[in-house]
Amino acid sequence: MEQVLALRTGASLEASTGSCTFCGSERVVYFRRYSGERLCARCFNRSMVDRVRRTISKYNLLRPWDRIAVAVSGGKDSLSLLKILSEIERDYPRASLVAITIDEGIPVYREEAIRHAETYAEKLGIELRRLSFKELYGFTLTEAVESGAMEKMGLKPCTVCGVLRRKAITLAARRVGATVVATAHTLDDIVQTYLLNVFRGDASMAPVGLRREGEGVVPRVAPFRLTPEREVVFYAYLNKIPFQAEACPYASQAMRDPIRRFLTSYEETYPGALYAALNTLEKLIQAKPQPQHPCPTCGEPTTRPICRACEIEEAIKRHMRR
Ligand SMILES: [Zn+2]
Ligand SMILES: [Zn+2]
Repeated sequence: MEQVLALRTGASLEASTGSCTFCGSERVVYFRRYSGERLCARCFNRSMVDRVRRTISKYNLLRPWDRIAVAVSGGKDSLSLLKILSEIERDYPRASLVAITIDEGIPVYREEAIRHAETYAEKLGIELRRLSFKELYGFTLTEAVESGAMEKMGLKPCTVCGVLRRKAITLAARRVGATVVATAHTLDDIVQTYLLNVFRGDASMAPVGLRREGEGVVPRVAPFRLTPEREVVFYAYLNKIPFQAEACPYASQAMRDPIRRFLTSYEETYPGALYAALNTLEKLIQAKPQPQHPCPTCGEPTTRPICRACEIEEAIKRHMRR
């Protein structure tokens, strides 16, 4: 069984020899290559929660009185984060947790994801609020794609969806009175995003998933920023979290995929490389903070004359009115 688990999640078979580094149990299920630790299921789960706790305190991500909106897509990362934060939140009686999910209106795909999110949030006893592109922007993602607006603008559905989803999450967070948004971006996601910006020649980099306050801003934090993706996959599997594994029909990871493949194979050869990359990149980024001002249309902080979300929303509406 352990071998099957290890194989399915890509964890090393070295897990099946030796005993748990923490409790001595023979039932080792995970081998952490970058640290050399062997973990039984109980110690693995505990270490995932402990690392999120340490991440929150290291970067000062959450306050004891926060109302935390967890952005939930219905995928393994966000449902795992919801479970771990619900465990941590028990120790903070003045904090509260709410899940928010954005329905961009992709038939079948999104309905399935929302079903997983609803079922799991209910199981954890956490309220889940839905907000749709249709109510916010007046069009679904599918309608916008079919109108031909994005093609005209030279934008991929994924790009548009990402930008509009981000804004929708902020608006949903405001509606539920959240003081902070927690997203499920992992160590891998964050390093990929930084490198993507480097290869795009975009020097206007801001730290991803660190708490930045400002007037009228709902800060976004990433409590998984020190957790490798493969450990989240293993956690979801180990805890039988029901998640949507199917890819979005519009998914185009054209630029991100080669970077992900490179980072995954590099980390495989040099365990710990992702942590080193995160530290180095963030030292460089924080040395040169980008000046931001509120978007004149929606008030969100931006480095552009008007924010990207408002620009895209307006362009699609203009196109659809024609
Ligand atoms: Zn153990
Ligand atoms: Zn705006």
